[in-house]
Amino acid sequence: MEARQLLPINRYEEQIVEAVGKNRVVVVIGETGSGKTTQLAQILHRAGYTKDGIIGVTQPRRVAAVSVARRVAWEMGGPLGEEVGYSIRFEDRTSRATRIKYLTDGCLLRECLFDYEFKQYSVIILDEAHERSLNTDILLGLLKRVAQNRNPELKVIITSATLDGQKFSDYFYRCPVINVPGKLYPVQLLYSTEVPYSYLESAVETAIDVHVREPEGDILVFLTGQDEIEKALRMLEEKVLMLEEGSCLDVIVLPLHASLAPEVQARVFQAAPPNCRRIIVATNVAETSLTVDGVVYVIDPGFVKQRNYNPTTGMDSLSVVRISRVQATQRAGRAGRTRPGKCYRLYPISAYEEEFLPATVPEIQRSSLTGAVLHLKFLDLPNLDILHFDFIDPPLRESLEDALYQLLAIDAIGQDGKITGLGKHIAELPLEPALGRTLLAAEDLGCLSQALTVVAMLSSETIFMQGSRKGDDRKRSREDQQLPDGNKYGDHVQYLQIFELWKKNNFDIKWCRSNGLQIRSMLFAKDVRRQLALILTRKNFEDDDRATKKISTARSLRKALCQGFACRLAQRMPKHNGYHTVGNKSQLVQLHPATSPLLVDEDGLYPEWVLYHELMASTRPFLRHVCVVEKDWVVPILEKLQNINVRSLSGLSAHELQKDQALGEDNKVVLLKPSD
Ligand code: ADP
Ligand code: MG
Repeated sequence: MEARQLLPINRYEEQIVEAVGKNRVVVVIGETGSGKTTQLAQILHRAGYTKDGIIGVTQPRRVAAVSVARRVAWEMGGPLGEEVGYSIRFEDRTSRATRIKYLTDGCLLRECLFDYEFKQYSVIILDEAHERSLNTDILLGLLKRVAQNRNPELKVIITSATLDGQKFSDYFYRCPVINVPGKLYPVQLLYSTEVPYSYLESAVETAIDVHVREPEGDILVFLTGQDEIEKALRMLEEKVLMLEEGSCLDVIVLPLHASLAPEVQARVFQAAPPNCRRIIVATNVAETSLTVDGVVYVIDPGFVKQRNYNPTTGMDSLSVVRISRVQATQRAGRAGRTRPGKCYRLYPISAYEEEFLPATVPEIQRSSLTGAVLHLKFLDLPNLDILHFDFIDPPLRESLEDALYQLLAIDAIGQDGKITGLGKHIAELPLEPALGRTLLAAEDLGCLSQALTVVAMLSSETIFMQGSRKGDDRKRSREDQQLPDGNKYGDHVQYLQIFELWKKNNFDIKWCRSNGLQIRSMLFAKDVRRQLALILTRKNFEDDDRATKKISTARSLRKALCQGFACRLAQRMPKHNGYHTVGNKSQLVQLHPATSPLLVDEDGLYPEWVLYHELMASTRPFLRHVCVVEKDWVVPILEKLQNINVRSLSGLSAHELQKDQALGEDNKVVLLKPSD
């Protein structure tokens, strides 16, 4: 209680309540840790805003939505899921009693398909808006309209950690900005003289060094992903063992990333015991989303893992890239929350000044927009077409065209640019459009049950235990464990077989373990499958389990996938020892090494036609999650694709004139206010 009253934001309670009373939109800026995420909703709850509606607080990350909801429920003294709940994709922990609901921005976006005025909410807090996730950006645009017009008033609060406050305020017609000055102690910045050979090793060494030399205070190390974190934990533990006993404080080493079990995650929020230092090795979640108390030293290698979609090549990349200067400032700030701290930047100041981008590129400018565009098409509100959508930062024209092309190829929109009946069904499913289309095709082909399984397995990230990454290893370990091999049809059919075998084994957890499968991922897939089946049953689709599981079903399943992934087909190029993708941005690619052994037959031959889930950029572009398809299915698709010309899409061409005017020199869509 005491700690909460000391949070900076609570000293601004009156001012916040007054500003929200008088304005429809308010921006709240405060340092991370000032209490925006946990306290704002409680402040407005106390001010009576939950009498005629609920308070929704969006989070860009699932892990934050869950963790923060749990914390706030605890602060308010009730069980999670009653007064305070959360809702994330495939999981809803709310009830009739819920007044404060934490939810991912994606979840709120989907809710608005069925209620575009957000009627159940009296207040919507768009939290961590500075992260500029794709969904947050779209919500900003939608809320801008609704907040202006809705009756009874919808209050919108945008929170942001750093410099973006003015930008948000300008976007919302100069709405008021409340600045909550954080209690931030000075943080000394220490730069490396050169770029380390391995930032992972350098981070581990620096952490040990700080631990040995510096007085007490926790150390927070930023790394880019789970693998790296696990590796660093092992290295740290080894090095700690080599320290002379009694020469320094005790130490506890802890991970913090999105796929931790809640119990493990909770440990990060417990203070260190006396005479003990914690070293927390975290991903970006610790940058702004989750606040860990007690940190005095931050170690920042200056990297983050970022997904990037290139609309011109259709290629996804998940790569480790330099953070921006804004991010570097955020990270350093984590060291100054309890007392003066230090931030060790494992890069030279010249790199910071010359190579780092000033701010992170918003996700809308580096993501596939297929889902987002379909969403906006679904809403079909006046002035809400894509090219005139009031984005805070507009996407690239190539991305919009790419999205339209893809949607047209799966029949989600028609030649007139309008959403089709099929498109509406697809939009309503909490899945990327290609997977949604697959399920609907599967329903027609009588293999919905199988398709549900495959889609659920694909939604779960790593099915196989880590460590056996390389294709050969994976194949070998599968031979040992005798998992089915997909009958040479590839990953999708194999996923189906694995799940069905697991089911035959009564969903036994031990069975997963002895077959090298990630238990959490398998349980997640099972749950996702159940949730999806529920949604489809509500839409009167039948998850018919009795369908035969013979080759014929695998055939229908592959055919259904072929409909969904019409834009992601590839043909074998024997001469080039690879495949080339079809469509408007054809290129030569390789099979992912883990997929390849699933496709090659006894004679060493590969199938002529395949579809793929992802095209990943790497040293050489490769296809991930591949399924064999038949030429007969491909031919009509190719014909259709040939006739698609996005620029002459009449839905667009109705605006062709404006479009040309609406494009700036940098090829980005220029903002047009509805009044223009
Ligand atoms: P902001 O959103 O402004 O960054 P938060 O509301 O997230 O700030 O955090 C305010 C305080 O609440 C922090 O001191 C943090 O340690 C504490 N806190 C937040 N979440 C948790 C949690 N899950 N467990 C324990 N403490 C938490
Ligand atoms: Mg926050």
